[in-house]
Amino acid sequence: MKSIILIAPPSAGKGTISKMLCEKYHLPHISTGDLLRSAVENDDEQGNYIKQQMNLGKLVSDDIIISLVEKRILDNDCANGYILDGFPRNLTQLKKYESFLINENKDLGVNILLDISYEQAKGRILGRVSCPKCGTVYNIYTSDARPKVFGICDKCGSDLIRRSDDTEEVFKERYATYLNETKPVADYFKSQNRLHVVDSSIEISKVFEQIERILEKEND
Ligand code: AMP
Repeated sequence: MKSIILIAPPSAGKGTISKMLCEKYHLPHISTGDLLRSAVENDDEQGNYIKQQMNLGKLVSDDIIISLVEKRILDNDCANGYILDGFPRNLTQLKKYESFLINENKDLGVNILLDISYEQAKGRILGRVSCPKCGTVYNIYTSDARPKVFGICDKCGSDLIRRSDDTEEVFKERYATYLNETKPVADYFKSQNRLHVVDSSIEISKVFEQIERILEKEND
């Protein structure tokens, strides 16, 4: 199966869609946000730098990200494809990633943009909670994404938490970073006719159906 790159503004549903894709297609989920959140737990100089950048809504240095992602892709479970959630996040990462793929004789895969307006994304951010154990993401303001029991993960029963960068102030900065740095990656794929745009403002199951149709065609 082809690998998948998910590009999206903050809170467009990238994490949730990645999890649904993993479950259906049994592909490993590579979330650079999650890789970085784990690195922050190492309370060392690099961990503190990453935490600071994330809490400011700014990107972490390309060198750190690229080495984390390349190392992960070389793991055996990624040999038959993977889902990239949050990478490449700017044109430098894209160029380095393309060179890496050429060296490894791998295909770029399917590029999908989850499209949502600024106002809709902002409305979602304040309702987002996630499970620190299994990574499932919920939204307390969205009927089809709410946990069954308030504050508890449906899947593993852990207490749900709010991300420290899910504030309105950090959201504004992350959205600006998206427009300035990440949207050019989508524009580049579009200029090459390699971008699938999916309306992500609707119910998550309908977003997923659009993606399933794209993947069926691409893997035909
Ligand atoms: P995410 O979980 O994808 O929303 O990412 C959360 C934060 O992690 C971002 O706001 C950035 O600070 C950082 N981050 C995630 N992916 C990348 C990346 N590819 N390059 C640089 N920083 C990243």
